[in-house]
Formats: sequence, C-alpha cells, structure tokens
Amino acid sequence: RFEQARFIPPDAIFALTAQYLKDSFPQKVNLGQGAYRDADGKPWLLPSVNKARQTLLEQGLNHEYLPILGLSTFRQAAAELLLGPELFAQRENKIATCQSLSGTGALHLAGLLLKACQNRLPKVYIPEPTWSNHHQVFDSLGFPCESFKYYDHERKDMDIDSYYSMLKQAEPNSVVILHACAHNPTGLDPSKEQWREIAHLMKARNLFPLFDAAYLGFNSGNLDEDAFAIRLFIREMEMEAGVCVSFAKNMGLYGERIGCFLLANNSKQTAVHTQSMLEMLQRSEVSNPPAFGAKIASLILGRDDLRQMWYADMFTMSDRLRWMRKALYDNLVSLGAPGSWEHLIRQSGMFGFLGLPPDIVLELRETYHVYMADNSRISIAGLNEGNVEYVARSITQCLLR
Ligand code: PMP
Repeated sequence: RFEQARFIPPDAIFALTAQYLKDSFPQKVNLGQGAYRDADGKPWLLPSVNKARQTLLEQGLNHEYLPILGLSTFRQAAAELLLGPELFAQRENKIATCQSLSGTGALHLAGLLLKACQNRLPKVYIPEPTWSNHHQVFDSLGFPCESFKYYDHERKDMDIDSYYSMLKQAEPNSVVILHACAHNPTGLDPSKEQWREIAHLMKARNLFPLFDAAYLGFNSGNLDEDAFAIRLFIREMEMEAGVCVSFAKNMGLYGERIGCFLLANNSKQTAVHTQSMLEMLQRSEVSNPPAFGAKIASLILGRDDLRQMWYADMFTMSDRLRWMRKALYDNLVSLGAPGSWEHLIRQSGMFGFLGLPPDIVLELRETYHVYMADNSRISIAGLNEGNVEYVARSITQCLLR
C-alpha cells in the first residue's frame, strides 16, 4: 500500500534548529528560525500575554470546544484590528472570517476556499525568494504555482520592474501571494507608491490579492503602518482580498497556533456564502480550532489596557531588532568585512538577507558555529549584545579568507 511513498527530506529550517541544539560549542549562535529572542537570547513571554494568561486563570479557564469558526470575539477583534475601526464598521457585513491554525493554517484555508469556489484552479504567483512553505501549501492543494522575480541578487534590492511586468502579463483571475510587510526572507517591501501601482495593475487584470500577514506590528512597531497595503487594496481600491493573519510573532504565541483568515468580499451575499463554506471546510479539516491562544488574543485585543501593553510590547521587539540590525552593520563595517553592507540597513523586520554564497554559509556553520539558512537569511532576533561582534567577526574572517 505505501510502497510508493517517497522519502521527503526534513524541512531545512527545522533541521537547522535540530543541528544547532546538538552543537556543544559554547559560543554557538542560532540565526536560523524566525522566532523572537530577548537581549539574553531567551524566548520572550510578552508582558501583555502574561497578564492575559493570569486573567484567564483567575476567571477560571476551561477546556471546552470552540465553535467551528473559532472564538467569535477573537474573529471580530482580529478583523477590526486588521482593517482599523472605521473600515471595519463600513465593511463588517461584507467580510468572512475564520480562526485558523496560525498563519500557515490561514493560507491553507484560503487555498481550500479558492479551490472549492472555482471550476478551474487558478494560477498562484509566488515571489522568488519567499517563505519556504508557500510553494508547499499551494502545491499540496494542486494549484499550479509560478514564481516571479522579487529580488535582484546583484543589486541586493527589490526588483520592482520584474514585479510590475509579471503583473502586466499574469493570467487574469490568478492569485498573487503578497507579503503584507517584512517580506521573508529579503526584508524589503514595496514603498507606498509602489503598493499603489501593484494594486492598480492587479485590479486591471482581475488578480486576487492573498496577503500573508505574519509580521503585522512586528515590523515597524506600528500595526496601522504595517497594515497599510491590506487597507489600501480593500478601502481605496475596493478589491476583493484575502488576508492570512498570524499572531505567532507579534504576540509571541508561536506554538499556540493562533491566526485568522479574513476575506473581504464584494457583496453581503458572497460574505454569507463564503463564511458558510469556511465553516464546512474547517469542520472537515480540524473540526474546531485550538482555544487557548484565541482566548489570550481575544482578551488582549478586546481590553484597552492590555491592548496598550501589547502595542508597547511590539515596539519593544521591533526596536530591539532595529538596534541589532544596526549593531551588526556597524560591526561589519568597523571590522572591514569586504563589500558593501548598505543592503542590511535598507531591510526591516525579523530577517536580514546577507547575500553570502553557500560555501561561506557552510563555513560559518561548521567552523564558527553560526547557524543561518542556506540562502544566508539571518533571524536578527538571534543577535544580542553578547554575540553580535562574534557573528560580525566570523563573517569577516570567512570573507577575508
Ligand atoms: N508567512 C510567513 C512569511 C512567515 O514567515 C511565517 C512564519 N515563519 C508564516 C507565514 C506562518 O507562520 P505561523 O504558521 O507560525 O503563523
């Protein structure tokens, strides 16, 4: 029965973490997986999350099932957060929402819904490079996926002309995966003007924007700023759009798998229908989503004091990342690391895209115990005052060799 099963190599980033954990070198540095670490290199329990957790315990936490679509207060609060109160009030009855297994689950649900609503599977355009799971999620559902050039490795910058020309030629009705902010892995996002052009080109060819919003508020520290592109497509362009939100990074709730899929529809009727389809799809996939993360997120989003604490927490994280990015840049420059490092400080968010060749990445791992993804993406969160100079020195030594 299973003789046809192929061996699938382990996921590169999870395998890298396992390799790092096995390493006994005292100065080892993990810049692989994108998970926030505090100034001591430890996972950070956000004070807002801690407070919400205590409140839930005091209130008496039970372990009942949630409804199929998830916790309704969470879904409503997440939609309001994404759209902002004004747009939410205008569009409330034209949106469908479904709590999801974090950002990945939201992407999967979006795929299931697109599949269930169309006779012929649309093409899915995915930026190159991108988060390693995008292709897998949509390939596994049978969508024809096509990469488009997002980044120019020579200039170490976004290739906006290739982006525009892809949109001008894209097959009408296709889906385009858009990183809402903090593009993974390049750390480079379109400017506001470029987003406007992207939206116009997409509207002209009737392309469906599917936002992957895994870093809202985590990128700039300001959620409204990070939600700019999403709101532009929905409010100014009045487009149908899907948004896959994750609360893994911005609330530090990685393992709780809390996210939401939001669909901004053109009419009330499609909103009712798509909402009902999401309910059916969710039921057949997971029956109902996990409760703990939803209760925490709902409390934080729904209570002013906790929400203010959370805004401050997001600022704390994004601010530390900005400092560490700058510190790495300063160290590389002062140590005389060959080449220009301007690209590093043009980027933002969780990741730095160093542009190092694979042999250097390997040498850093094997000789210096500095772990990063094969494409030389580093998680800036893995840097701290205790290791940033060591990392810069290791990179410099490898490049000077
Ligand atoms: N999209 C992007 C771009 C990501 O970087 C991630 C997390 N690494 C996700 C989606 C999904 O993460 P999660 O399922 O943990 O929310």
